[in-house]
Amino acid sequence: MTEKIQVAIDGPASSGKSTVAKLLAKRFNYVYCDTGAMYRSVTLAALRHKIDLQDNEAVIALAQSITISFKPGDPDQLVFIDGQDVTRQIREAEVSANVSTVAAIPAVRAEMTKQQRQIASRGGIVMDGRDIGTTVLPDAQVKIFLVATAHERALRRYRENVQKGIPTAPLEEIEKAIKLRDQKDSTRKVSPLKKAEDATEIDTTSLSIAQVTDKIAAIIKKARA
Ligand code: C5P
Repeated sequence: MTEKIQVAIDGPASSGKSTVAKLLAKRFNYVYCDTGAMYRSVTLAALRHKIDLQDNEAVIALAQSITISFKPGDPDQLVFIDGQDVTRQIREAEVSANVSTVAAIPAVRAEMTKQQRQIASRGGIVMDGRDIGTTVLPDAQVKIFLVATAHERALRRYRENVQKGIPTAPLEEIEKAIKLRDQKDSTRKVSPLKKAEDATEIDTTSLSIAQVTDKIAAIIKKARA
């Protein structure tokens, strides 16, 4: 039997991580874990409870008290907070604008990291995020770091919003928000967005989803052989 390995896919906002991670999980019959959805869920819960996001203690208590779960869905995996479907709500602009603040709180990261390691513990996992190869799964057999220009990433997010019927901001505004999130995610003290030394970097700017997926699939096959 082929080995059930851990695949870590990191990169900035809208670099194509979740799209290819989902396709790879399907191809290899692995579990897919979207760690960004977990930080988004904590952020949404905090906004709903009208918690001051600067009040670290309150955000931490909330992160430790809610249960975030996933269920397979087509085309998107479904995300739940305490059993309530929040798949769409966690993608809204207010959550995107505040998630980096919540994700910078060390104890929130510690809680999410603990849950993510538990999800990945049996192997057969494709996990995407910002710190999977560096912090969450430092021993992952495959580590990928996806990059693309901010303009291309904004275009992708814009088209995705339109396609999914999510209220969308103009393209220039999305690009600005993406750059700001990149900056916050790359400069935070704990587990910043960073390529792991042993990760393979792939620039997806001019590649199709199928091309990126095939490239990574070849790397996974080699690692399992
Ligand atoms: O991947 P996505 O854009 O949905 O992630 C939302 C936010 O969650 C990121 O901008 C980042 O602030 C945070 N995040 C993180 N670490 C991860 C995944 C996401 O800090 N592993």
